[in-house]
Amino acid sequence: MITTSVCIIGAGPGGATAALQLDRLGISCVVVDKAVFPRDKVCGDGLSGKVLSWLEKVDKGIAQRLQQLVEKENSWGVKFVSPSRQSMDVPYKPNYNKAAESPIGFVCKRIHFDNFMVDELKRSPNVQLFEGTAVDKYTLEEDGYLISDASGQFQVKAKLLIIANGAHSSFTREVAQIKMEPKYYAAGIRAYYKGVKGMHEDSFIELHFLKNLLPGYLWIFPLPNGEANVGMDMLSDAVRDRKVNLKTLLTDTLKQDPIFAERFRDAEMTSSLDGYGLPLGSKKRVISGNRYMLVGDAAFIIDPFTGEGIGNAICTGVMAAQQAAACLEADNYTAETMAAYDERVYRVLWPELSLSYKLQRLVKYPRLFNWVFKMGVKNKQLRDVISSMFYEVDLRKKLTRPSFYFKLLLNR
Ligand SMILES: Cc1cc2nc3c(=O)[nH]c(=O)nc-3n(C[C@H](O)[C@H](O)[C@H](O)COP(=O)(O)OP(=O)(O)OC[C@H]3O[C@@H](n4cnc5c(N)ncnc54)[C@H](O)[C@@H]3O)c2cc1C
Repeated sequence: MITTSVCIIGAGPGGATAALQLDRLGISCVVVDKAVFPRDKVCGDGLSGKVLSWLEKVDKGIAQRLQQLVEKENSWGVKFVSPSRQSMDVPYKPNYNKAAESPIGFVCKRIHFDNFMVDELKRSPNVQLFEGTAVDKYTLEEDGYLISDASGQFQVKAKLLIIANGAHSSFTREVAQIKMEPKYYAAGIRAYYKGVKGMHEDSFIELHFLKNLLPGYLWIFPLPNGEANVGMDMLSDAVRDRKVNLKTLLTDTLKQDPIFAERFRDAEMTSSLDGYGLPLGSKKRVISGNRYMLVGDAAFIIDPFTGEGIGNAICTGVMAAQQAAACLEADNYTAETMAAYDERVYRVLWPELSLSYKLQRLVKYPRLFNWVFKMGVKNKQLRDVISSMFYEVDLRKKLTRPSFYFKLLLNR
């Protein structure tokens, strides 16, 4: 049996970041993942500025090495397409200068990004990584958690667990008692394509809010070598109530919609079309307890509007590791002490999660969405604010203040 202070279940972006942060704090930990890396993960592969900024907090060197990763496509903004087919280009930064600045957004296949993170783990002296080992049993004992694989041959005893094993975590369901609720959960699918026409020259990612897909959207994210990640997601209650088959809906849309039919005429699908769940942070949950904290998808923390979960997995990974350090220092792992983690996570993330939840509901009303969109296309101030929101998260707060809309209407 291995004994350790902290055991992390899952080496995706959330678990890997928690381990890297612990390592940089001089705390040793064990990380267990059922997969052997490099491994794939169904995702849109979009990495926002939040990924870099939180990795920089852990170690500037990691962020610099990520900037140099050759397998990623630098992206300079987002193209939004409204239900009435109006499009609005919003750069991540107003008046960006490609020659003089580093990009703040990327698209990188998860097989490469997650492997980059695991390579960082392998170089970290305080991290012991076990791949190809699925954790199956969790037993709370007086002095810690005993975890093991199904055979019971692999066992780790830890004072504290960081649960980062993704959207289908049995620990989240059974121990933390967080249930999947279809109105706060989405289903997503994606495939890789080669040869899609009409991509943005500065590799803007594209979000298409087509009328027949609402409350979901279709995305096209540019990748290196002329590839693209193409996918769609939709709230699970809508999928269930309307009996939608997402795979058929996506492939039919690409074939039958005149604009996509032209753009995909010579394109070739280079992978299978696969799906996975998105546990959305549309409401607050209790994400820690006696001797454990949940991180990333296991904590149901994906942005309900954009579907972005990697940045939030990384951010919660950092916070969980810092909370673990405080608990080890005080030798105190009670649920009451752990609650400081929930408090910090929601203090930092709830303003944007709750705003995104409001925007997600707005998408259900195409006419209202079209109206707001039309205003954005005409109004430079609104476009600049949306643009600034990508690199200055605090500016998003402006969007929650009625006075902001009032001023916009006056300036129309
Ligand atoms: C279709 C789709 C599109 C998306 N697009 C985007 C996007 O463009 N940008 C974005 O930011 N987010 C996107 N997301 C969300 C993003 O994929 C997740 O939020 C992110 O992967 C969460 O990271 P994580 O570390 O919490 O979990 P994961 O990445 O799921 O990692 C969990 C790890 O735990 C391991 N594991 C699981 N069970 C066990 C076990 N029993 N024992 C040991 N190990 C285990 C797994 O092998 C895995 O390595 C998308 C999601 C979907 C489904």
